[in-house]
Amino acid sequence: MRRKVVIIGAGPAGLFSAYKLSNNIGLEIVILDRGRDVDSRKCPLENTGVCESCNPCNVLYGAGGSGCLSDGILNLRPDIGGDLEELTGKADKAKKLVEEVDSIFLEHGAPEKLFIGENEAIEDLQRKAEASGIKFIQIPQRHIGSDYTPKVINSIKKYLEKKGVKFVLLADVKKIEKEKGHYKTTYIKNTVTYSVDSDYIIAAPGRAGSGFLMSQIKDLGIKIEHQPIDVGFRVEVSKVIMKPIIDVNRDPKFHIYSKTYDDFVRTFCTNHEGYVMKEQYDDYVGVNGHSMRDIKSQNSNFAFLSKVTLTSPVEDTTSYGMSIAKIATLLGGGNPLVQRFGDLKSGRRSTPERIRKSNIKPTLLSATPGDIAMALPYRIVTNLVESLERLDNVIPGVGSDSTLLYAPEIKFYGLRAKVNSLMETNLPNLFVAGDGVGLSRDIVNSAATGILASEGILKKESSS
Ligand SMILES: Cc1cc2nc3c(=O)[nH]c(=O)nc-3n(C[C@H](O)[C@H](O)[C@H](O)COP(=O)(O)OP(=O)(O)OC[C@H]3O[C@@H](n4cnc5c(N)ncnc54)[C@H](O)[C@@H]3O)c2cc1C
Repeated sequence: MRRKVVIIGAGPAGLFSAYKLSNNIGLEIVILDRGRDVDSRKCPLENTGVCESCNPCNVLYGAGGSGCLSDGILNLRPDIGGDLEELTGKADKAKKLVEEVDSIFLEHGAPEKLFIGENEAIEDLQRKAEASGIKFIQIPQRHIGSDYTPKVINSIKKYLEKKGVKFVLLADVKKIEKEKGHYKTTYIKNTVTYSVDSDYIIAAPGRAGSGFLMSQIKDLGIKIEHQPIDVGFRVEVSKVIMKPIIDVNRDPKFHIYSKTYDDFVRTFCTNHEGYVMKEQYDDYVGVNGHSMRDIKSQNSNFAFLSKVTLTSPVEDTTSYGMSIAKIATLLGGGNPLVQRFGDLKSGRRSTPERIRKSNIKPTLLSATPGDIAMALPYRIVTNLVESLERLDNVIPGVGSDSTLLYAPEIKFYGLRAKVNSLMETNLPNLFVAGDGVGLSRDIVNSAATGILASEGILKKESSS
């Protein structure tokens, strides 16, 4: 009889683990995902700028994961978006994993063009950054574009289906139980409850599923460790402000230590000529950004995030981040907040009229003009304000009064499951991968952890 693997989540981590496992004909592979199929995942925001609060949210859930409607920037470095060297304990293995993920994306239609930047321009940017006490991180990148990402994901999904992988979509997993010699996964599809038994589980439900997974982890007795989170806002400026930097690097990463608190602040996920978008979670909202290869806005946006670590007596950064997100959601009347940088610095709320007066037209129309200082803690606001003013030395104009800020943007990697180098937890045959368990923070790294989990299963199979 074929042995069975249940994969929870059809994001990059789940898909790439299935990719590797599908070469083993002795395994039956089932992927369960809470969201819709690739072609049914339409976000009204793309056309109208208004979030219709789809349930489940098409940006976060469904075949392809949150990466499916994303900008599809592939950061081809093992230490950005995670730390594969730390996870595997081997630098050459970490590098090979990135190459393997990249080659699968290329096979399924990712563009050949690689953004690596001109040496002279990079040096110039580095010089400017370092003169202001900022570190510029150079990353080779591939840009799929959110209008092409679904095609690439569709191609991967069809390949897997041909190899016999079964996808069960709109399947909301509610419970994972360990029974004698196997695991039982219970899910609800169209109000009917089903359960599926398997020899192995790879749990990869992404950030949106991390609350669910962490509750299972607690019930199952899987060991965890607390991780820092990132809290901040999304910065939106006119595209001409970002153009000189984008010419050097498609998704530039700057690392800054804030003046007052010496806290770590970074830029992340730049979308040139892109759109700010709303993320609808069960109890709160967040913001993110995307850009397309063919449809362009007049603006560019990037995340600006301050790292938060908590120590005894409260180490639970996830609960802390969620309470911040909930306050921001409350103040925004169920929508993210938007504020002009000048208003934030002057200690006044942005009103619809002040936003209208801004040189920059917001791309997320459903955001509520308000006061971010009422939602984010003082220390975080101070870190972000000081650091954005400093970044203005490197990207002139980002620190202007009319720059728009959207909050909350919170990256939860707060809890990390304790795993071995092949992503197996302390429960034998229960593997985890991707963002939802704090092992990654981007497409390439999440996919790589999926590959590692599948290697773990294949190793066990070959020795059994
Ligand atoms: C708008 C946006 C833009 C982004 N842009 C980029 C980018 O350009 N480059 C980059 O590298 N990264 C980007 N990211 C981040 C990137 O998408 C993630 O790091 C990556 O997708 C994580 O992969 P994952 O497989 O761990 O989780 P996910 O991609 O989140 O996939 C998890 C899957 O699990 C499913 N799931 C969750 N809970 C359950 C449950 N209870 N039952 C069943 N299924 C469940 C979800 O439906 C989802 O499909 C972006 C993210 C967003 C939201």
